[in-house]
Amino acid sequence: MSSRIVILGAAESGAGAAVLAKKQGFDVFVSDLSEIKDKYKRQLDKYGIEWEEKQHTEEKILNADEVIKSPGIPETAPMIRKIREKQIHIISEIEFAGRYTDAKMICITGSNGKTTTTSLIYYILKEAGYNVGLAGNIGNSLALQVAECDYDYYVIELSSFQLDNMYDFKADIAILMNITPDHLDRYDFKMQNYVDSKMRITQNLTENDAFVFWNDDPIIKRELEKYDIKAQLFPFSEFHEGDVIAYAEEQEYVIEKPTPFNMELEELALRGKHNLYNSLAAGITANIAGVSNEFIRKGLSSFAGVEHRLEKAGKVRGVEFVNDSKATNVNACWYALESMRKPTVLILGGVDKGNDYSELYELVKEKCVGLVFLGVDNKKLHEAFDQFGLPTADVTSMKDCVDRCFAMAKDGDCVLLSPCCASFDLFKNMEDRGEQFKQCVRDL
Ligand code: ADP
Repeated sequence: MSSRIVILGAAESGAGAAVLAKKQGFDVFVSDLSEIKDKYKRQLDKYGIEWEEKQHTEEKILNADEVIKSPGIPETAPMIRKIREKQIHIISEIEFAGRYTDAKMICITGSNGKTTTTSLIYYILKEAGYNVGLAGNIGNSLALQVAECDYDYYVIELSSFQLDNMYDFKADIAILMNITPDHLDRYDFKMQNYVDSKMRITQNLTENDAFVFWNDDPIIKRELEKYDIKAQLFPFSEFHEGDVIAYAEEQEYVIEKPTPFNMELEELALRGKHNLYNSLAAGITANIAGVSNEFIRKGLSSFAGVEHRLEKAGKVRGVEFVNDSKATNVNACWYALESMRKPTVLILGGVDKGNDYSELYELVKEKCVGLVFLGVDNKKLHEAFDQFGLPTADVTSMKDCVDRCFAMAKDGDCVLLSPCCASFDLFKNMEDRGEQFKQCVRDL
């Protein structure tokens, strides 16, 4: 009898894992407590995979040999507890998919900058003619691509939740952008638990692999002392200090090895300090993967950016609007605000994940001319920011929000949506929040 794989959660990763498991000859069952989207139902039906929605039937789950869990399901979910009690092994879709491909794995994690860096690496490799797939939190699931495509390389964005259920998986190039507080609600509000999860990106690396990381992150620095990482190290920094191998110096972007490379900072397509980090990480990675200097230069200077990340949303009567809806934690907002060159009306608010706003105080004092709180519960925001005496408004719809911002802003100012919080109190998701913002700006 073939062994049984049960998949919990039938969205992109779960449905993809089911297809791959079926193709590999497993007895597959998919269960989702919510309603499954039609797209995924069709995908499961196409492969004759048994599924259920809006329930978890214990008898069909607890007889699994292995469970693949969607990263969205927390460890505290009752069904996960039961599976753990039965000592059934739980893995992530990436762990599972990694067993069935020999492709080179380029894996990116960090608290911020994952999607931008992942997209930029993918763009450079693709433009250079590599046979490459984009996976993880963006694009199609890794499992579906392993089942249906035949790529030589995968560029994979990994969240801490995916890393949590990865054990034997190994990256060929691992990239760690930074570690700052995020998702603490899923980690018992203990920062170290979240840090440990991020550091799993280094697990199983061998001396033939590469580890790219931001050298100026105090947490990464501290953690690296605890680990015996066998891989070749490629630290990057905005400064040429110590043994960093990629940095900025005298208006030049420099990579020292494996292949020496440089270009004018001015030519980089992405702006802002945080995007220099992202461009450095992407450039070194492409360099390690063997992309020629010509294509690295072309890629870094022509990348169009990613939607909802410091995206220009229009200019109305001299007021510029910037959509950074993806900034769902304090650190992301810090970098967004840091990159602002004009007086800024800042939009904050939503579902707070245990934020400490004090990190923003200096920048708010320096850059902000108004604050608009967009959320169901803005109490914590008032407690943090009322001390600055800035014009402030509370709103619960995007239309009111944009109207109030527009009223506060003067010709030459900028309105920045970089809310530090998740969007689920008023919006479907961060994309919905960003789309509504852009639409309301168009309607002004
Ligand atoms: P992630 O996928 O990790 O959430 P994104 O690339 O989507 O990261 O960027 C999310 C937000 O984080 C951006 O809107 C920007 O404000 C900020 N950001 C991007 N890159 C970095 C970085 N390297 N360091 C800190 N903040 C960043």
